Amino acid sequence: MTHRSTPIKTTVALAVLSLSLGAMPAFAAGQAPAPGAATTTPAATTILPGDDFFAWANGDWLAKTEIPADRGAWGAMAALADDTNNRIIKLVEEAGDGRKAEADIRKAADFYRAFMNEAAIEAAGLAPLKLQLAKIAAIKSRADLSRVLGGSLRADVDPLNFTDFSTPNLFGVWINQGLTEPGRNLPYLLQGGLGLPDRAYYFDSSPRMAELRTRYQQYIAAMLKLGGYDKAEERAAKIFALETELAESHATREESADIQKANNVWSARDFSVKAPGMDWNAFLKGARLGKQDRFIAYHPGAIRGAAAQVAATDTGTWRDYLAFNTLNQYADTLPKAYAELRFEFYGKTLAGTPQQSLRTKRALSATTVALPDAVGKLYVSKYFPAESKAQVQRMVADIKSAFERRIDKLDWMAPSTKAHAKEKVRTMYVGVGYPDRWESYTDLKVAPTDALGNVLRAQEQHYRAELAKLGSTPVRSAWAMPPHVVNALNLPMQNALNFPAAILQAPFFDPKARDAANYGAIGAVIGHEISHSFDDMGAQFDAKGTLRDWWTKDDLAHFRAASQKLVAQYAAYKPFDDLALNGQLTLSENLSDLAGLAAAYDAFKLSPSGKASGVQADRDFFAGYAHAWRSKMRETALRRAVLTDGHAPAQYRTYTVRNLDAWYEAFDVKPGQTLYLAPQERVRIW
Ligand SMILES: [Zn+2]
Repeated sequence: MTHRSTPIKTTVALAVLSLSLGAMPAFAAGQAPAPGAATTTPAATTILPGDDFFAWANGDWLAKTEIPADRGAWGAMAALADDTNNRIIKLVEEAGDGRKAEADIRKAADFYRAFMNEAAIEAAGLAPLKLQLAKIAAIKSRADLSRVLGGSLRADVDPLNFTDFSTPNLFGVWINQGLTEPGRNLPYLLQGGLGLPDRAYYFDSSPRMAELRTRYQQYIAAMLKLGGYDKAEERAAKIFALETELAESHATREESADIQKANNVWSARDFSVKAPGMDWNAFLKGARLGKQDRFIAYHPGAIRGAAAQVAATDTGTWRDYLAFNTLNQYADTLPKAYAELRFEFYGKTLAGTPQQSLRTKRALSATTVALPDAVGKLYVSKYFPAESKAQVQRMVADIKSAFERRIDKLDWMAPSTKAHAKEKVRTMYVGVGYPDRWESYTDLKVAPTDALGNVLRAQEQHYRAELAKLGSTPVRSAWAMPPHVVNALNLPMQNALNFPAAILQAPFFDPKARDAANYGAIGAVIGHEISHSFDDMGAQFDAKGTLRDWWTKDDLAHFRAASQKLVAQYAAYKPFDDLALNGQLTLSENLSDLAGLAAAYDAFKLSPSGKASGVQADRDFFAGYAHAWRSKMRETALRRAVLTDGHAPAQYRTYTVRNLDAWYEAFDVKPGQTLYLAPQERVRIW
């Protein structure tokens, strides 16, 4: 059976499906748009590769490219995603016109069409939510409440592959193999139920956060008023107080990222002992988990906190909370007044996005969330030739071997660790283009005039399909990212990588380009994802995806010490006089860039065209790497990225080249040039 962890949410933008590789951050240009980018754009001819390799390789592109007005940043990934989405919108619209497409593709076309049918959405009003709102209104007791809360759960989070912790429901569910039981799927229960993005928003004392809280409470009231509820302000205040209580018990983002804190196996009976307050029998039955005996309580503190609130807060407040939550969650497919109200708060106020994206884009995004494999299949059949798949698969095999050979040559790693590391590379499943098996949507009913009904049914169908995995063995080759998304993914517990078809396009991969350029671009991306299996998160899982300590103490100590050199190298980059990169925050990604580029280079040199090549091919290789990272950022976006993004800005990722000896030879880089590092200063870890 097919496994799928694409979060099913009504409002997920494609950009949220993130981001092992790191996309151009979709920063909103909320503040005054900076004139031009912070990245300098000197004429390419005057720049030496050894002084600024990024500007040397991308000078022409930088000179002629403008950042679109509604974006904070622009680059190869963003442009590719935009082009790809436009092409898919056309395909989906054509599939809807022709009526000849196969059943699942026709469903995707109908889903899209229903989302676009604003007249039908207006006419339906709140009718599609009638049943849900009636169930909420009928809650009289703690058992009723527990059953409805359980019934609202969906499989909508993914803490490991996507670091996606957000769910509007009280808890998020993730079905995957046990952290220490690779042969068995378990339900993971994660914290949820907050309308603001994170617990910090409820407690941070800065004036900006305080203002956001006020605006959020006003938004709750406005939404309730629109939905026909009286005493909206009074209800909003109580709802906000309840959310604040829930937030109190939530883990922070840093705590959530610590997988060691998450491995809490609970039996069904543990819930009422460890988290009293909820009627857990009613809850688990409502969630269709009544027969399940083992769970992973990913966020035990939040589960305890939420259960306590079920007992402590009156059912009237819970009814209002659930009613607001329902309107808020589905506002995008409710009449315009609801959708606009929601965008006003979440888009403009919270994210600083001045304008809502085109309805066609939102429709595609919703369709992708609901029927990812149908949209993916449509895209692949038109735009991903079998030869491309075969060519990239050959590159993957070469780069995996290169990585194994590099492990062999390490002088600091114990033989036992080496043996296991090589086994991990060798047994890694690498998906190229699209999954081996497509998910089928046979059971999903899609009506071309019922946008919200379609969303509800798709969420339900997805949850049912995920629950069905509980009785079966985990499938390592199952995909977690749709084929038409421009990104790449490392799935630590599956010991697997996904390279969707959409990233296998120029400038990352071009079947018509020289091998050297392809190895430098997509080859380095492949190497990057492989080496994530050995970064601070990936190294905690063994070849079978079991959470276990398989490095010796000395290995780990050496790895950490060597990493510090890379921390220092990146901390020395200063995009602004008053702001340097955070070498620690970006360490995992920089390590993966370095190891990935080195393995891709080795693989190229051993490939048939690499063996016979000279210095020009090496130049093509490194230039291909730099082209894939071409990008521009506005000053505000660049500042925010430097402060918060785990990836270094693309320009600095390009400078990874200065740690490879071959780059010096290819471009005759000499002491005194800006990027020059003496051989002993070049960082070599893998
Ligand atoms: Zn990465």
